[in-house]
Amino acid sequence: MLNREEIEKIKDLLSEKKKIVITTHYNPDGDAMGSSLGLYHYLKSKKHNVCVITPNIWPSFLDWMPGTDHCLAGDNHLKKAARLLEEADIIFSLDYNALKRTNELADLIGSAKGTKIMIDHHIQPDGYADYTYSDIAASSTCEMIYEFIKVLDEKVSISKECAECLYTGIMTDTGSFKYSSTTSKTHLAVADLIEQGAKNTYIHHKLFDTNTYERMRLLGFCLSEKLTLLNEYHTAFIALTSAELESFNYKKGDTEGIVNYALSIGEINFSAIFIERDNEIKISFRSKGSFDVNSFARNHFEGGGHHNAAGGKGAETMDETIMRFIQLLPQYKQALALHE
Ligand code: 5GP
Ligand code: MN
Repeated sequence: MLNREEIEKIKDLLSEKKKIVITTHYNPDGDAMGSSLGLYHYLKSKKHNVCVITPNIWPSFLDWMPGTDHCLAGDNHLKKAARLLEEADIIFSLDYNALKRTNELADLIGSAKGTKIMIDHHIQPDGYADYTYSDIAASSTCEMIYEFIKVLDEKVSISKECAECLYTGIMTDTGSFKYSSTTSKTHLAVADLIEQGAKNTYIHHKLFDTNTYERMRLLGFCLSEKLTLLNEYHTAFIALTSAELESFNYKKGDTEGIVNYALSIGEINFSAIFIERDNEIKISFRSKGSFDVNSFARNHFEGGGHHNAAGGKGAETMDETIMRFIQLLPQYKQALALHE
């Protein structure tokens, strides 16, 4: 948590009506949207002038989240985003640890004069913010926002909308409460959010039971045709070209979670999915146990994230990217063989 002095200063900043912009990372996921919208609802209830700017549009399976109609996707409204950021008294950076994760917004946020507050759980946060609340052990940025609101405002009554948003991010970032980052504190927060009106079954349904037929067929294709095992290295990967994605009428979010299926094979400790999109190869890495995918992504694929879940990218062709990936594995052979 931030120290006492920092909390008092932030309380002071928020003690009168402010212009506030909340930003999050490119390709926002459940935690990015949940933390941004959760904080949005809280600050709105305190009568601030608030908006959420995402670097690009969120996947449509998150459209139902309360407040998305007030979010601005920066890549389609760059001028408006620039003006809002320039005029902001306070800019929040949620669920990202480096400005470059906001793509086109990075320079605008970097040069804006407002007070910058970063709240994030990714490893190795950049130091650009005036206040940095970083907790790499936290299950999600949503859990941190829950704590942040409670510290700012001890008597707070969290609204149903805020509770639904925070619940969503905690659920998605913990793999429905199964990852090792899930603690008793996480469950206590979630219990309170349910008390405040978050309907757990409804949210689960909105996130996991609204697949399209095409997405299911894409998943089947990935598992039956595209899954490659490298048993010697306890590694599995899937690669999808843009033509393959198009043939399944790909929509943003359709590949979300597929990398976890590869990791669910017993002897596999490391999985990756390579996706050809926007003229680059977007990569997701997942691991079980001690193999550190944050370092792997950081060192080899311009990325980062968490110990067991990270992302990155490659500027080469798909074949070259995969070749480079495979050639990296021998140096990690020992680490990849470990289960714990
Ligand atoms: P995903 O594979 O689902 O895109 O991302 C997994 C985790 O790594 C998420 O927490 C995400 O925010 C983070 N992540 C994804 N790509 C990058 C990246 O390029 N850089 C950093 N620092 N983190 C990333
Ligand atoms: Mn997160």
